[in-house]
Amino acid sequence: MKSLAIGEEVTLIDEKRNPIAILTLNDIFSYDREYRASQLFGTTDRNHPGVDAIYRRMGDTALGGSLKLLGRMDWGPFEKLRLEPKDTWKMFYEGKNFRSVAGFITGANPLHRGHEFIHKNALEEIDGLLIQPLVEMAKREYTRHEFRMLSYRSVLDTYYPKGRSMLSPLRVTYIFAGPRETVLHALIMKNYGCTHALIGRDHAGIGEFYDKYASHTVFDEFDPKELGIAIRLFHEVFHCTRCSNLATGQSCPHDEKYRVHISGTGIREMLRHGILPPKEIIRPESARIAIQGIQSKGLDENDQSISPVGQTIKAIFPFYSERKNLGGLKRSEPLDWDSLTKRDLE
Ligand SMILES: [Zn+2]
Repeated sequence: MKSLAIGEEVTLIDEKRNPIAILTLNDIFSYDREYRASQLFGTTDRNHPGVDAIYRRMGDTALGGSLKLLGRMDWGPFEKLRLEPKDTWKMFYEGKNFRSVAGFITGANPLHRGHEFIHKNALEEIDGLLIQPLVEMAKREYTRHEFRMLSYRSVLDTYYPKGRSMLSPLRVTYIFAGPRETVLHALIMKNYGCTHALIGRDHAGIGEFYDKYASHTVFDEFDPKELGIAIRLFHEVFHCTRCSNLATGQSCPHDEKYRVHISGTGIREMLRHGILPPKEIIRPESARIAIQGIQSKGLDENDQSISPVGQTIKAIFPFYSERKNLGGLKRSEPLDWDSLTKRDLE
């Protein structure tokens, strides 16, 4: 590092030492880790995976300059399904003559009814829909991406208008920057030719680090012209038994006790227990494929499930501690979430 000077070229390599790009140096500088963390992630807490990565993986000196890409990164099993922005632009505006396209970038979960609600709403007003599941590995607990793609495919084939709904994997490294990552995703959608970005609740959320709607409010800081893509924000979607429909707090007036929550994490946990969640929150076409690709249930040293069953039930069926059935009679004593077992889940 010490021998490097401005104007020199550096070859960047991958883990197999294959050359990926040439960096022409125009800047060599040191930086403050704490400042970088607070500016990028809004926190300096080491429990935040992005903050931790700054301390764990980054060196003391940073290099800046222009990059010349030598070759495309191979996307492994997804290479065949890969679409480049030049492909999508051509497809949308020459092949299909769309006037508008809604983009949707989605993380670790199999396709559920909450996603579908957002997609179908968009398809009412927008010509095309481009769904891009992220296929970068982040945590081990996730559904394997190959199965997640198949789960999407299966639902799209049966329930989405043909010719207007497109599916293509997206490999970008997770930054774990919450709301700021949401803005980045909107810009990626724009680069792929989308005119609208569909943003759900807690897009790119990381545990409790950001407010549930931080990925919505962050867009208040930008002028729509500056972003170059229209943003469509969606509130949390749930199934309401009184509406007998999927809904959000924007359109359903009913009480919490009538609602089944759609929690991606909750769905994943149910699948890990080998149980198909209700069809109101995830279509069986999606769940039965996803269940094959799910990482088996994590156990701690006492053979207890790492994520307690009670938390899974609470995430999807918040009424359960007070009532056995949706809208049913009240229990004499509310149940303690921590005391619930797999039998309650069934
Ligand atoms: Zn309702």
